Amino acid sequence: MRAEGLRAEGLRSVDEPGARPDATVRPAHTGSSALLIEIRGLRKSYAEAGRTRIVLDAIDLDLRAGEFVCLLGKSGSGKSTLLNLISGIDAPDAGDVTLHADGERVTLTTLSERARTLFRRRNIGIIFQFFNLIPTLTVVENVRLPLELAGRADGGAAAELLAAVGLGDRLDTYPDRLSGGEQQRVAIARALIHDPLLILADEPTGNLDDDTGESVLELLLRLTRGAGKTLIMATHAPEIAARADRVLHVVHGHLQEEHLQKEGQAV
Ligand code: ADP
Ligand code: MG
Repeated sequence: MRAEGLRAEGLRSVDEPGARPDATVRPAHTGSSALLIEIRGLRKSYAEAGRTRIVLDAIDLDLRAGEFVCLLGKSGSGKSTLLNLISGIDAPDAGDVTLHADGERVTLTTLSERARTLFRRRNIGIIFQFFNLIPTLTVVENVRLPLELAGRADGGAAAELLAAVGLGDRLDTYPDRLSGGEQQRVAIARALIHDPLLILADEPTGNLDDDTGESVLELLLRLTRGAGKTLIMATHAPEIAARADRVLHVVHGHLQEEHLQKEGQAV
């Protein structure tokens, strides 16, 4: 596992009255774990009815390796947009996203779409609300796919990881035979199979009933946070955010950090 501890540091609180535009809020517990993500001056807007609507603006954020970070915000506040900018699926109008990967500092926002895709395949795992499994591939083929796209051999890893998520006896089943919770377990295995530096989860329990959501969350936290990985999760659920190391609210296009009462809770 490449990621080590978890910390985060800079975050602009732009809505704060009197805040300087370049002010950053840094938690007192800045530790020694490595800086993983630097976001500077990020802006994203969409054209709507002939006007430009700014969804995210002046986003500055530093995240350290190993952190479990929750993004909270109302529906439509820009959580998915921010995750898509961090993964390089989308490009911003302005600003930079830089990741530290294998000793290199890679500014995703300066890369071509193709180069961003290759970077993402190597370094990032993504889990979606609606699972997004490929219906024409079996469970084991879905999980193996990221390895194939990265030109890496499976060597039994997909079957092993599926056993670890409790689906070792469903390898040759197709996704439509599985319950929502089971499909999300497959999606978690698929997101982790290539041992990514960073895992992004976009409302991963948002389409599951409470009990199933809870068990999927436990699994996800065990395989990510429990293994020292960096996890950024968009969620509506304050009870999930209560377990995070850092909670960031997306409000009116800006990030506001919640100052947590307790730190370092166990998974
Ligand atoms: P959240 O994930 O917090 O619910 P999103 O990031 O999906 O919010 O969306 C933020 C805003 O951006 C919404 O108002 C949404 O309608 C708009 N938006 C997202 N994607 C697009 C797009 N491709 N084209 C136009 N508007 C978009
Ligand atoms: Mg969303």
